[in-house]
This record gives sequence, structure tokens and C-alpha cells, in this order.
Amino acid sequence: CQEVVLVGRSNVGKSTLMRELTGHSKFTTGKKPGVTRKPNHFDWSSEKFMFTDLPGFGFMSGVGEDRREEIKTDIVRYIEENADDILAGVLVVDGKSVVDIIDRHSGPDEIPHDVEMFHFLRELGIPVVVAVNKMDKVDDRDERLNDLCDRLGLMPPWKQWSDVVAPISAKRGNVDSLYDALGTHFHEQKRDDL
Ligand code: GDP
Repeated sequence: CQEVVLVGRSNVGKSTLMRELTGHSKFTTGKKPGVTRKPNHFDWSSEKFMFTDLPGFGFMSGVGEDRREEIKTDIVRYIEENADDILAGVLVVDGKSVVDIIDRHSGPDEIPHDVEMFHFLRELGIPVVVAVNKMDKVDDRDERLNDLCDRLGLMPPWKQWSDVVAPISAKRGNVDSLYDALGTHFHEQKRDDL
């Protein structure tokens, strides 16, 4: 079965988004082995794919560095092994803090997790949508989104990248831009199959 994977740092609102994406339709849950913390699977009755919620990566209070590395390795392995069945990746970030976190972790020997994950998915040929969450807390919307594009290597303005960058507020149920962005990739995929 084809799937759309959700990845992101802890606390960006991935669970909230998962509930929002899956809460309004009829879903059945399933399980797949392969990741230490089993991903949650959902079948979307109207589409032939399911959302897979992969564990959060990066800093988590009370979780040691070794364990964090292990989680990231599991995520990477899961994606590599299932790449053929992955229709798209949704990289969830916190719109309020993502640019600051990226900048804090950028250096000669360091690639920020979010940037690394973005390029990793794309290198595997998996279309990526960056779900920029918590936009309800962001005042300087265009500036933030332009900065994020810049950090991801996408030439601003962000509005040129509406198939890649989807500003949302999962908590408020504003996720239309994510559906729109995902839709463009499914469309492309279908066209490629012809
Ligand atoms: P996860 O660790 O990525 O699964 O994050 P959660 O879904 O548990 O959310 C972490 C925190 O962010 C919770 O307090 C949520 O209520 C909050 N949150 C999630 N989405 C939004 C949003 O769109 N806007 C705001 N302001 N808060 C959000």
C-alpha cells in the first residue's frame, strides 16, 4: 500500500496534524514493522494511500543523544526500505522557530536535521511538502517563509513554491494548503504513470 510519511522534530505538532488529517474521514489503523516505535498507519477511504507517522527526531527532554541518533537511524532506514511505496514526505516544522533552529545548527561540520531530512527525501526521489505549522503564532509570515525557503535552497519568494511549502495551523484546522500541495504531487505521479 502506498503511503505518505510524516517526519519532523519533536513538538512541532506532528501528532496534532496527524489527528487533523485523519480525524475527518473514515480511517482504519494498521501496523507495520520496521521502526522501533511502530508508525501509525491510516487508510483514507477516498484515496489509495495512508499516512505514516514516524517518530519525532531531534531534541527531546529526557532522551539521551544515543537514543536520539538511534531514532534518526530508524527513520532513515524505514524511508530507504519503503521508498518505492512512499508517494510523498511531509516534513513538519514549527513556523515560529524553524529558521532560528536551522541557523543555530548550521556550520562547517553540521547540517540541521530539518534541512538534512528535506534533502534526504528529495535525493530518494520522494516529493517533499514542508508543512510549516503553528502559523497562527507567526506575525511576519512572508518574511519567515521566505527565510525558510532560503535555508532549504529554494529561491524566494515562497509563493513560487506552493507545491513545496505549505503554511498551516494544525491546531486550528487550517491545513488546506497542505492538501493542495500534496495534490499537485499525486497529480504529477499519475501523469508520469501514463
Ligand atoms: P509532536 O511532538 O510533534 O507530535 O507535537 P504535538 O502534536 O504533541 O504538539 C506539540 C504542541 O504544539 C502542543 O502543545 C500542541 O497543542 C501545539 N500545537 C500543535 N499544532 C499547533 C498549531 O497549529 N498552533 C499552535 N499555536 N500550537 C500548536
